[in-house]
Amino acid sequence: MLGDIFTEIKNRLPIEEVAERYGIHITKGKAICPFHEDSHPSMTFKHNRFRCWACGAGGSVIDFIMLLYGDTPMEAAIRLDNDFSLGLTAGGYTNKSLSERKRAALERQTNRNKVNAFEEWRECIIDKLSAHLRRLYRWRDVLTAWSGGLDFPPRLTEVVGEIPLVEYYLDILTFGAFPEQVEFYQIYGKEAERIARQYDFSGEKQLAG
Ligand SMILES: [Zn+2]
Repeated sequence: MLGDIFTEIKNRLPIEEVAERYGIHITKGKAICPFHEDSHPSMTFKHNRFRCWACGAGGSVIDFIMLLYGDTPMEAAIRLDNDFSLGLTAGGYTNKSLSERKRAALERQTNRNKVNAFEEWRECIIDKLSAHLRRLYRWRDVLTAWSGGLDFPPRLTEVVGEIPLVEYYLDILTFGAFPEQVEFYQIYGKEAERIARQYDFSGEKQLAG
């Protein structure tokens, strides 16, 4: 019975002990209130309830935990049950509290979002680098067929020299294992973006000019 758990917890746990367990320092029955910017101890304890005379916060041990952690009543009960080893809640809850499981789920979601963002980046950079590489191949052909007369634009020669690098980047991004790709992103991500940007903004004209 849920009601029984709340009553049991309130009966078994002294509010002062709970407060101190979660970092509240009590002297002469008073404490600095954690629920507002308190400079003098405004919180008192009576009849196993807390009360802040400055901000008005007050209630039972359950209320205290709810305020402190933003827990639901059940989460607060489970937290207290776990932290004080009361053994009141059913097996599934005793090892991992609801809020812990919520946190774990949130973490998984965050990781999924990160992976999705990375995948988006990877596909986009592959597109850009591939387009850039096709253009570089064309320039290389021009360069190879160059019959002289005028000096070949030095910038273009330099850019054509980047072909092996771009091929290497694309190879990792296309065929690399996931951890390898993540490492690539961390180390060469910015450089790959810079190279890809050349295709976006510079164009042949500026490179040849
Ligand atoms: Zn207060």
